[in-house]
Amino acid sequence: MLQLDNEKQLLKMLYSGQQIPSPNGGFLMLLGVRTTSDGSALAIFECSVSSLRYELTIPKATRTERKKVKDELEAGSEPDCPRHGTGARLERAGKDLVCRACGVAYARA
Ligand SMILES: [Zn+2]
Repeated sequence: MLQLDNEKQLLKMLYSGQQIPSPNGGFLMLLGVRTTSDGSALAIFECSVSSLRYELTIPKATRTERKKVKDELEAGSEPDCPRHGTGARLERAGKDLVCRACGVAYARA
């Protein structure tokens, strides 16, 4: 598995749903995201041209993001992903509330 550079820009594209250009030409297809034990996530991509696979670490929730989600939970509303925005509902996964699109755990369920 190859690592992707220029993480910040790639993450921005990932959160906004833009197509990510591949280092080999073509683009990167998102195969899936996996929540890791510390609450961050790993996104796996496949290059549309070379079929090489790449991984990108998605940083875990910041204190600000956690607080936002916690406040919404306490107010009785269903929180959306702080990064993906409206419509990306957080879902229960084991003991955590996780965004299915980025795999990051934002709160305890
Ligand atoms: Zn998300």
